[in-house]
Amino acid sequence: MQQTNSNLLWAFRVTTSHTSQGSAWDVSQLELSNNGTPLIPSSISTSGSYAHPDYEPIQVLENNPKFWGGRPDEHGQFYLQLNFQKAVAFDSLTLTLKQRQEHFATKISILFGRSIDGTWVWNQVGNYESSGCVPLSLNLSFPGLSLSLIEPKREPKREEPLRVPPADFWHSPEKLHPARPMEFVPDSSFYNSVNVNGLWVCASKTIELEVISKCEALVRSKVPLWLLQACRSFRSARWAIDPGPLRIIILDNRFNEQAGMIPELENDTKGRNCTSCPFVFTSREDFVDGVNFQWPLGALTAHELVHGLDMVIRQVDPDFHNRVAGLFIQAKKSQIYQYKDVRGTHEMYAATNRDEFLAETAIIAMGLADPSPNREYFKSGLYLRSQLEEKDPEVVDLLSTFLNLEI
Ligand SMILES: [Zn+2]
Repeated sequence: MQQTNSNLLWAFRVTTSHTSQGSAWDVSQLELSNNGTPLIPSSISTSGSYAHPDYEPIQVLENNPKFWGGRPDEHGQFYLQLNFQKAVAFDSLTLTLKQRQEHFATKISILFGRSIDGTWVWNQVGNYESSGCVPLSLNLSFPGLSLSLIEPKREPKREEPLRVPPADFWHSPEKLHPARPMEFVPDSSFYNSVNVNGLWVCASKTIELEVISKCEALVRSKVPLWLLQACRSFRSARWAIDPGPLRIIILDNRFNEQAGMIPELENDTKGRNCTSCPFVFTSREDFVDGVNFQWPLGALTAHELVHGLDMVIRQVDPDFHNRVAGLFIQAKKSQIYQYKDVRGTHEMYAATNRDEFLAETAIIAMGLADPSPNREYFKSGLYLRSQLEEKDPEVVDLLSTFLNLEI
C-alpha cells in the first residue's frame, strides 16, 4: 500500500516556553509509539541540557528515575526532539510525556518534522495546556494526523455514552470547609486589592494599580451582580488549603512570581496561569501586553475566572455540573469543536473536557477569542459570539445565564 507523505515522520519535537520555573524543564519520559510499538530514535536534539551525564536527554528513553534537565535556547524556548534515521511511516501514534513536579511545562506544542520535496518543514500539530497547577501529563494519539487528547481515567470504552462523574461535593456541607469565623481580608503587606461586589481582585504589590483597575473593569463588565455576591460566600472543598472565598490573584510575570508565594499558601506551588480552589491565578501580562503579545487583553484571566465561577455556581446550583456536561457530550458527538485542514482533523481545546469546554466557549462568547489566523478559533470559524451562536446556540444560552455577553 502506498504511504502518503502526511503519514511519514522524520523528526518529532515537543516544545514549550511556559514552564513552572523559567530556567528549567525536567522530562523523565518521552515515548512515541506506532500501533503500540515504540519508535526508537537515532538521536535526540534539545534546546540545551544541564551539564551532567545524569541529566542528558537520553534519560527520557531509559526506564530509570533519572530525567532530562532541560535548559532553554537563547529565545527562552525549550525543545526536545527525536530524530529518526529514515522516514517513519505511521498510522496510529501515541505519545507519552512525563514531567517532574519541580520544573514542568504548563503548555506544550507538538511539531512533526518532514522532508517535503527535499525541503525540511516543521508542522505544528497540537497545543496542550494543563488546567491547573500540576504537571501536564500527556497521552496523545494521532490516528493518521488527526489528533485527540486521551484522558485514560475518564475516557469510556468506545460505543458507551460518555459518563461524567457527579459533582455533588460542592453542595455537601460535610465535604466543605466551615465558614470563616471572620470575613476574609487580603494581606496588605503582599497585595493591593479591590473588592468587586464580593469578588476580591488581589494583585502582588509590584503590579501597577492600573492593572487592578483593568481586571476590575473586566469583572464588572462580564460577571453579573448575583454571581459576584456568591463568590463572597463560596466555601472551598476540604482538600483545599484555603477555606475561601473565591478570589482572583494577579502575579507579576516580570519577576516570575509563583502561586505558592502568596501569604495564604507560602508553599512551593508553581504556576501563575491556573485555577486552584479557591484561587484564580493570573498574570500581569494579561492586562498589559496580552499573553504571548498576541492574546486579547483579559483573555487568560477570563478563562481562569470561568473555572472559578464554575465552582461557585455548582455550589449554589446542584444541576449546573450536569447541564454543562450534557452540552459537552452533545458537542463532542456533533463534532462542533473540530476543524479540518490539509493535515487532517483537529479538536479545539474546548473539546478537551467539560471544564475546558465551559471556559473556552465562554471566551468566545465574551468576545475574547484571539482571531489570529494561526489560532484554532480562526481555523474553526469560531472566534465571534455570532459564530458560536450559529453552531452551538444551546451553549450560548447557558453561558448567558451567568455571564454578561453584551460586548
Ligand atoms: Zn482551562
